[in-house]
Amino acid sequence: MTIQWFPGHMTKARRQIQDKLKLIDVVIELLDARLPMSSRNPMIDEILQGKPRLIVLNKADLADPGVTKQWLEVFKQEGHLAVAVDAYSGQGIKEIPVLAKVLLKDKLEKQRAKGMNPRAVRALIVGIPNVGKSTLINRLAGRNIAATGDRPGVTKGQQWIKVGTDMELLDTPGILWPKFEDQNVGYRLAVTGAIREEILNVEDIAFFGVKYLVKYYWEPFSSRFELKEPPQDPENPDDIVAVMEAVGRKRGCIVSGGRVDLEKASGILLRELRAGKLGRYSMEAPY
Ligand code: GDP
Repeated sequence: MTIQWFPGHMTKARRQIQDKLKLIDVVIELLDARLPMSSRNPMIDEILQGKPRLIVLNKADLADPGVTKQWLEVFKQEGHLAVAVDAYSGQGIKEIPVLAKVLLKDKLEKQRAKGMNPRAVRALIVGIPNVGKSTLINRLAGRNIAATGDRPGVTKGQQWIKVGTDMELLDTPGILWPKFEDQNVGYRLAVTGAIREEILNVEDIAFFGVKYLVKYYWEPFSSRFELKEPPQDPENPDDIVAVMEAVGRKRGCIVSGGRVDLEKASGILLRELRAGKLGRYSMEAPY
């Protein structure tokens, strides 16, 4: 999916979400567990206008579990409810409707005290492209997709999906833009596959990824590509390129004269990395 985030598109995306806020009780803010800061919209607090929010760290199956645990702790300390899931397999998603109700506990109790029978909690998923919004919606829906689009206030084309008996989800998620200001954020997003490669050079993306993995995840990285020695100086670009060349040779990316085709090697590296073949890794840690 390509979205060019020009200022006009940002305004439109923001307005679309704010229109939907009127229909819902809670927002499910979907972040990538491997990079919860870089995959977060820079204006999210302003956009959500104080709407109760559940933070969901998706693709936890690909992230370093120890680091994910630290992130959950940090969000908790900041006063947020947060949970780590794998929308692809469905791991952890049962917690989502449970926590959505916890978020609205006071409101639901007040309704019960007045003798009202609280209706299902209405939720909207928001997040940057590729973070797994559609996958999560489909998982939560299961086979139990129920369309009740005739309710007042529901814009044409939008439908509610029933998630068990206690939650209803808008079937179209809110799409938000990622951060752009910091170049490292762009590279982290590109390494994980959250933004399209064409925007940045594939060799530069792979370089950024290799430098990071060599530093923090040398064991799984070296065993995948059968590399013996870590680079002498991981801060020296030549040493990182030498690692990329070694990977290229392992994967048969040789051109005439025995030179390594770095572009091809970079593509292979990134594909394996994104598919989780190099083990679980996080690109950002809170501490
Ligand atoms: P959206 O643009 O936010 O709707 O993202 P999609 O739902 O289209 O997901 C983007 C890609 O991430 C797809 O290839 C999904 O299969 C993959 N994906 C989504 N959630 C997970 C997850 O929890 N784990 C893994 N490994 N892949 C996921």
